[in-house]
Amino acid sequence: MSFTWVGGRPSVDFTATLGKRRQTPFERVPVASDLGRWFHAAGLADHPVAVSPRTFTRALALREALYRLFTGTTLAADVDLVNHWSARPLPGPRLTGDLRADNTTTDAAGLLSVLARDAVDLLTGPLADRIRTCAADDCSLLFVDESRAGRRRWCSMNTCGARAKMAHYRAARVD
Ligand SMILES: [Zn+2]
Repeated sequence: MSFTWVGGRPSVDFTATLGKRRQTPFERVPVASDLGRWFHAAGLADHPVAVSPRTFTRALALREALYRLFTGTTLAADVDLVNHWSARPLPGPRLTGDLRADNTTTDAAGLLSVLARDAVDLLTGPLADRIRTCAADDCSLLFVDESRAGRRRWCSMNTCGARAKMAHYRAARVD
């Protein structure tokens, strides 16, 4: 299963691990080890991270809370959940027996703290009102619109944007 990276922020990309949310949702991280691979693929860890079943379940709850916060459908408990994780310590550097630094993160819960903090930063920063859902009917990806004009509509110009343009040209030709 491949992951998508159009969000512009790790916390936004995390919500994309549930695909096609407005159509037929499917899990890009059906089991805990997939989430471990996602942390690695997202650049948050040097290697796939071991994720316990409990942390996996809690990670998916955080993911859904983030999605609601990003789309303005927030439940009161969502704020509490994000705060729970953002207050946790971040993964720290580890010292090996021969006194070298080991940056191999093994702390999945710490990585959820990274994601929660990223979301707090995004939701309270200048781009808070620039979190968008892709305008394509068959896409539900979120992205942060960092364009100057703030009128970006597609998660990616290479995929949804290109298809919309093609459809527009085709329609124009028929008229
Ligand atoms: Zn899209």
